[in-house]
Amino acid sequence: MRVLVVEDEKRLAENVARALRESAGYAVDIAGDGEEGLYLAESSNYDLMVLDLMLPKLDGQSLLTQYRKKGHATPVLVLTARDEKENVVRLLNEGADDYVSKPFDLGEFLARAKALVRRGKGQRSPVLSVADLQLNTIERTVKRGQKEIALVPMEYRVLEYLAHRPRAVISKSELLEHLYDYNWEKFSNVIEVYISGLRRKIDSNYAVKLIHTVRGHGYVLRPERERT
Ligand code: CA
Repeated sequence: MRVLVVEDEKRLAENVARALRESAGYAVDIAGDGEEGLYLAESSNYDLMVLDLMLPKLDGQSLLTQYRKKGHATPVLVLTARDEKENVVRLLNEGADDYVSKPFDLGEFLARAKALVRRGKGQRSPVLSVADLQLNTIERTVKRGQKEIALVPMEYRVLEYLAHRPRAVISKSELLEHLYDYNWEKFSNVIEVYISGLRRKIDSNYAVKLIHTVRGHGYVLRPERERT
């Protein structure tokens, strides 16, 4: 997953980004003003936008209005200051999905951020299942049947992205764009490495395979019995 944080208070932006990277395993881009925020939001596909209201150049409310007017559906979590409470109703009506008031607890912020990412993909439960595979997105653990499977962090992130939309074919460039921040092009060869690691750990001992390559199109997570 990839998140855009639009926040001009540098330290807060960095704390929020670190929490999203370390505790949720998300890739994070930071914009320090509203114009840059809108530009980035429109030029990349994000899974979540975290939006401050008081911003230089273009305020958060205007950014949100312009962004939604153009039809972008990415969930938006607004950061409000205490004296902006009366704006909350207006923001929700303008297309914000949720908000947290500063100063906020990072644990609560993360829970709301993850819930919005899930809802943006049509998932409600924090435990994603495909056949007998289960991903617990809170604990970031993976099980097949009763067996716990240990993954390296990037393998987990690839699998989590696929598991949010099981049965959908997801291209390598979509994976790259959602798993890395600004410089994603340079990682283009590593996805295959993680996919083959995932296959080895998840599928190699089972007759029903879950991870498939659709040649020329990408990858898909769905149960398929091995052809004999
Ligand atoms: Ca601000």
